[in-house]
Amino acid sequence: MRPLFRRLLRVSNRSIFAFIFFFSLSSSCLYFVYVAPGIANTYLFMVQAQGIMLRDNVRTIGHMLRQYTNKNSTLNGTDYPDGTNSTDFTAQSTMYLPENFTISPHLPCPEKLPFMRGSTDINMSEITLEEIHQQFSDLGIGPGGHWKPTDCTPRWKVALLIPFRNRHEHLPIFFRHLIPMLQRQRLEFSFYVIEQAGTQTFNRAMLFNVGFKEAMKDRNWDCVIFHDVDHIPESDRNYYGCGEMPRHFATKLDKYMYILPYNEFFGGVSGLTVEQFRKINGFPNAFWGWGGEDDDLWNRVHYAGFNVSRPDGDLGKYKSIPHHHRGEVQFLGRYKLLRYSKERQYLDGLNNLIYAPNIIIDKLYKNITVNLVPELAPVKDY
Ligand code: UDP
Ligand code: MN
Repeated sequence: MRPLFRRLLRVSNRSIFAFIFFFSLSSSCLYFVYVAPGIANTYLFMVQAQGIMLRDNVRTIGHMLRQYTNKNSTLNGTDYPDGTNSTDFTAQSTMYLPENFTISPHLPCPEKLPFMRGSTDINMSEITLEEIHQQFSDLGIGPGGHWKPTDCTPRWKVALLIPFRNRHEHLPIFFRHLIPMLQRQRLEFSFYVIEQAGTQTFNRAMLFNVGFKEAMKDRNWDCVIFHDVDHIPESDRNYYGCGEMPRHFATKLDKYMYILPYNEFFGGVSGLTVEQFRKINGFPNAFWGWGGEDDDLWNRVHYAGFNVSRPDGDLGKYKSIPHHHRGEVQFLGRYKLLRYSKERQYLDGLNNLIYAPNIIIDKLYKNITVNLVPELAPVKDY
């Protein structure tokens, strides 16, 4: 005798089990996307990128077949079909100064120096900060990681801000690559590691605002770079100076198969002049958890009348330091906040933020620790 409700619904045991199975499978998937957005995002994007690459390949093969069957054209290996990276090649190989070029202490450092060779060696093996400091001891790095060239006048004074919590093994790997690169680029620089204390979810954007305010107390920086700790540039020709327009440096990430995820992507590594950053009222403070704050910065930049510039071709390639951190949970409120980017821009940012930092000057960076809570950046109703 079957229970009454099942007789009424006319469902078999098998379909009940199937229902329970698929229900738990889909809820575990959703839960995973929520707690590990970084990993989920990477996989979702890989599927999308494979689709894009497949479509491009089909298009290229089609183009070559058309050329091959067309008797008037030759296929001599120099006439690339549309949509390949032939323009990237010219952009990268031109206009770097020759080896014998001499620079002068009284003249601005050129942007395209001969010792910026393009691809750099990447070494992801773990190392301690102390070892890195010893390796770099004769490079003239001052307290807080400050350095400036003496053989020419630096074109930009760059403060590099790194949002941070519990990624200690990343820091030395980061410095191992960034210090030599910035020195080859003849920029003046210091590093600011802004570390979030307390139990709140991570707030990358608010840390950047704190870092900006603190850095400005130190020195008259004119360019600020907002840099994820796990991003390592693959080319030292990816010049870390600022420009007329806010700049997005990390255009091609290995974890996204070296394809820009979407045109409005402004994550990973970006840079603005001090003036530009003040004009857009900095980052929003209201993004707690993973996602959205970089998209909001993109909106702010455009509402303030700027465009975003990017390095040519493959210069914006980055490798991610492999890690086993799950990252932060998704910030589900981001879609709503992003709808009101414009209304919120001058209510929430540099202008409503109060905090009390704890500062330690390390050998290679300045550590700014802050305990972040939403009350530090009150927003009036809008
Ligand atoms: N971050 C951190 N600790 C965390 C989460 C984030 O230090 O627990 C910093 C770190 O600089 C990292 C950046 O915020 O590179 C972006 O976070 P994450 O790498 O988790 O984001 P994803 O690369 O997955 O988008
Ligand atoms: Mn990351």
